[in-house]
Amino acid sequence: MREKITLACPGCEERNYNLTKNKRLHPERVEFRKFCPRCRKHTLHKETK
Ligand SMILES: [Zn+2]
Repeated sequence: MREKITLACPGCEERNYNLTKNKRLHPERVEFRKFCPRCRKHTLHKETK
């Protein structure tokens, strides 16, 4: 049972990544360090609704 989520950059709020997560393993909002092309650096992307 995997759920589609979107990761957004907290700085510019650009939605850069779509992925799935296992909701059983990660019931809370997840965060990943990803590269943001708009900020041109790695930022802590957070799951959005
Ligand atoms: Zn950004």
